[in-house]
Amino acid sequence: MTDYRYQHQGGCRCGAVQYLWHCHQTLAELSPRACQCEFCQPRDARYLSAPDSRLEVHLSDSRFVYAHVFGTYTADFMHCGRCNDLVYVSCEHDGRLLGLVVQQSLRQSPEDQVQLSAGECDFDQESLDERLARRAANWIPELVVAEAVPEGGE
Ligand SMILES: [Zn+2]
Repeated sequence: MTDYRYQHQGGCRCGAVQYLWHCHQTLAELSPRACQCEFCQPRDARYLSAPDSRLEVHLSDSRFVYAHVFGTYTADFMHCGRCNDLVYVSCEHDGRLLGLVVQQSLRQSPEDQVQLSAGECDFDQESLDERLARRAANWIPELVVAEAVPEGGE
C-alpha cells in the first residue's frame, strides 16, 4: 500500500459521514474547481481531487448517506442523511469508484487555514465520453466506503 504524506480529514457537520483523504499534497497545493452548473453554482460547491490519492469514507450508519443524481446520471453527489451536507462525489468508471472531495466539508486545522481560490469551470459542452475520460484522469482514483467511524486516524 502506498504511503501518503498527508491525511486530510473532513465530513459533514453532524459527523455521521466522515472521511480521510490520503494525499501527497498539502491543501495549499491543491486547486479547487468551482463547477458552474445549475446544481453546483447556487450551492457555491467547490471540488478537490488529486490523481494519486485515496479517499476513505466512513459512515456511522449506511442510512446516513444519500445520493443526489442529475445531469448525465454518471456522478453521485453524496449527502449526509441527517444534516444534509454535501460531502463528496462518486463516479463509477471501469469497475472502480472515482471520487471528489467537497471543499466545504474539509476540516482544516487553524495553522492549516488556507484560502483556496477556486477556478471556475463549465463542462456543459463535453460529450459523455470526454467527461468520463476527464474524470478518470483527474479524480481521486480510489474511493472506499466503510460503515464505521475512524478511531483517530490509522
Ligand atoms: Zn451529517
